[in-house]
Amino acid sequence: MKQLLQLGLLAALIVGLTVAVQQAQAPAPSIAITLSKQSAEHWQVAYQSPQPVHQLVFIRNPDQSRQQRWLPLDSAFEMSLTAANEERIRRRDGALFEQVSLQLTPTYVALDKDYAPFSPFTDGGMAWFTGRFKVCPEHCDNSAAINYDFTMQALASDAIRIPAQQFTGTANWVEAADDGQVVYVGPQQQTDPFLDSVIDPGLPYALQTSLRYDLPPMLQYFAERLQPLAAPPILFASFSPTDDGRYGQQGGVIGRQLFVHWYGHSMHERMTEANFINDTLWFFAHEVGHLYQSNIYSNDDAWIHEGVAEFMAYDYLRASSGRDDYLQQRLAQAEQQCQTVASGGSAFAKHYSCGLLLAVTMHERLLQQHAAGLYRLWQAYKAVHEGGAPVDATTYLQVYQQLTDAASAAAIHQQLQQLR
Ligand SMILES: [Zn+2]
Repeated sequence: MKQLLQLGLLAALIVGLTVAVQQAQAPAPSIAITLSKQSAEHWQVAYQSPQPVHQLVFIRNPDQSRQQRWLPLDSAFEMSLTAANEERIRRRDGALFEQVSLQLTPTYVALDKDYAPFSPFTDGGMAWFTGRFKVCPEHCDNSAAINYDFTMQALASDAIRIPAQQFTGTANWVEAADDGQVVYVGPQQQTDPFLDSVIDPGLPYALQTSLRYDLPPMLQYFAERLQPLAAPPILFASFSPTDDGRYGQQGGVIGRQLFVHWYGHSMHERMTEANFINDTLWFFAHEVGHLYQSNIYSNDDAWIHEGVAEFMAYDYLRASSGRDDYLQQRLAQAEQQCQTVASGGSAFAKHYSCGLLLAVTMHERLLQQHAAGLYRLWQAYKAVHEGGAPVDATTYLQVYQQLTDAASAAAIHQQLQQLR
């Protein structure tokens, strides 16, 4: 459970990262990045810079594992660190260069506060994250001005899937420097007209079925209470075994891509754990909940969006009957976790556990005057944000007060004070 909780936090932090925007600056240099898959185990990346550079510096540096996992094909090059501990590629002799190619290690690793670079599927498919590959010529001070011309060269039999598009064999697309997206390369074509998904056939059949059939009603449920999504989400559910006994799951959302990767020992064994399906549904409802939050996130007040996502999971599971014991357990657990915050408990406990309890309290108070409860608050919060109000606890509580009364808002404010 602990591990799931930590991974939930990771997903939360990742959601918080999705706010970078590209500034309009001209002219935009364009860096060509070509990934090629020669076989399931052999992947390479090639960079082409528009002008000679001394180094290509990576934008995202959650750790330094590229130094072990990426190998320059030409030994004249090396992967090393800048003075600011960013990973970079350069020539050992310090000379200028325009292109470089590296051999990759296309296996699953969980990165600290960032998306996994590669999420393998047991049928040979792969979901990879484009943000991992973005570099800047010399330094990243002006990364927002850079364009990335991506090319994916896969096997002739592979489908290449990015949002709203599917290719065979080779694909090209352009991205800005912000986050990135997940690209699927593998045998699964899009065939389900109701849900754009890539589900690992190595997952237990009951779990595959749950993913296929439980997600559409979940989307419907939230669409009825908040605004329907402009385009349906895309689900990636993958699995890879480990040989060191570690197991768990990691997931999150990027744009409208929703993904989860399970890793570790037998899924069939894990599925027999009493709460596996409920925990999985909760996890998905939480992440799907974020999709409906219209990108209104405050890193300083993460208890708002995380608490509301937890509430949405709670509310959805409550609406689908027969889970009362499980939901009581979740609330009791949240109470327990939240109590640790006053004595220095984790950010997870504050944002998720206390966030859930606060959201439930607010929902119940809102229901006295508004049939949509907390969803009504979110709609109003979104409206004032669109009118120029900052995304933070002050705005949120002001909106709450307008929908309820001063005493109710003061009570929430006081509970928050105890968490600081
Ligand atoms: Zn979250």
